[in-house]
Amino acid sequence: MTVTRFAPSPTGNLHIGGVRTALYNYIYAKQNDGKFLIRIEDTDQERSREKFEKNILDGLQMIGLAPDEDPVKQSQRGHLYLSAAQKIVNSGLGYYCDCQPERLENLRNQQQKAGKKPMYDGKCRDRNLCKSENTVLRLKTPRDGEVRFNDLVRGEVIFDNCELDDLILLRSNGNPTYHLCNVVDDAAQGVTTVIRGEDHLSNTPRQIHIQEALGLPPLEYAHLPLVLGENKKRLSKRDAVTSLDEYIASGYLPSSMVNMLARLGWSKGDKEIFYLDNLINDFRMQEVQKAGAVFDIKKLDWINTNHLANLDLEEFIDHLKPYLKKENISLESKDNWKEIISHLRTSSPTLASITQDLIPYFLDIKTYDQKSVDKFLIGSKPILEFVVRQLESIEPWSEDQLDEVLAKCQKDLDLKTPQLNQPIRVALVGSTKSPSLGLTLSLIGKEVSLARIKKAIDLND
Ligand code: GLU
Repeated sequence: MTVTRFAPSPTGNLHIGGVRTALYNYIYAKQNDGKFLIRIEDTDQERSREKFEKNILDGLQMIGLAPDEDPVKQSQRGHLYLSAAQKIVNSGLGYYCDCQPERLENLRNQQQKAGKKPMYDGKCRDRNLCKSENTVLRLKTPRDGEVRFNDLVRGEVIFDNCELDDLILLRSNGNPTYHLCNVVDDAAQGVTTVIRGEDHLSNTPRQIHIQEALGLPPLEYAHLPLVLGENKKRLSKRDAVTSLDEYIASGYLPSSMVNMLARLGWSKGDKEIFYLDNLINDFRMQEVQKAGAVFDIKKLDWINTNHLANLDLEEFIDHLKPYLKKENISLESKDNWKEIISHLRTSSPTLASITQDLIPYFLDIKTYDQKSVDKFLIGSKPILEFVVRQLESIEPWSEDQLDEVLAKCQKDLDLKTPQLNQPIRVALVGSTKSPSLGLTLSLIGKEVSLARIKKAIDLND
């Protein structure tokens, strides 16, 4: 049975590159009737934090990537790594090394000066040292030959063994290293397929050597292209938001994040909108591209707009509620709330920005956009006074009636549409962003609309 795993180190919040890795692992497992597992790789005690572990697990749950078994934590499995290390010692495939950091540093400097790749020279390989407080355990990596493995994305990958040095399995304090834990756990969890970022590609031949030393079965691999920022460099906090929960907090739907991340490095013709179920049908690991994939926020906005539009009104409101609460908007405070929501639900690409657009329809406007005020409101007093007089007599206060009266005002005052509409709009919503003016007035209602226009007249004094 196919078993995949997502193996994050809890040294930071769930990164969108990590979500993409988890997603591909999940899809691949489901496509093969297999299992998707999560393993917390928290052996780096200094950098690992419980809060990051929680953030990662909560994030995966939020976007629907539930594991098929309870997640495991490396910090609770030390005995497995130590017994594997002992096995390697017993079989003569490992050796203790007492080279001190100064020696290793000198060696590295010399190699670098000579234009060579820095690597351990194997000084202790045949010294038969015993374990002590000063020794690390190293793997006897084959000196010649090569490691070959098949990568579902990259095809056959070959590394020369002479490029690899004798890597450390146990530190001098007895703690196992990342490579040893990773290999031991993949075997212990029954993992068959390792799907991870391309940054791990050079780890794979080293880990294959550990597997071979332990007599473990070979694995299938897929190394995914890096997620790049718009500058074509690896996506970093400096050029974009990288943590999943920040995207969710700004009002991108979990399903939009899944859609966006699935498309980072994979495509299917012209089809752009995917949900998790479609992906399980359509995705092919072999179609994943090798080149890095650029995370484009405009594309995410577009995807989110589509996913929001695909929700029915009730689902949309359920998703919107937490954002409304933050702004103290109570839908029930307006009789026509359903109408307001239906007209404004596509006003902006995210739930947080749609909520901002909704504020003038539910709450008093506290701030006016200064540029819009300077450009349209200042000097508009005579226009607004004229409009108020015309609007006061409108009955019923309907979009059609309002459109008719506005058209008449424009004609009577001999104004171009923006000259009439924009000052009114700024008076009503504080900026120039709103649906058609007749609709905006009808949604806000007669009393509030007139009060706001009068307030804007006063602002002109
Ligand atoms: N813990 C590693 C990381 O967070 C992943 C290792 C792996 O997937 O094999 O980058």
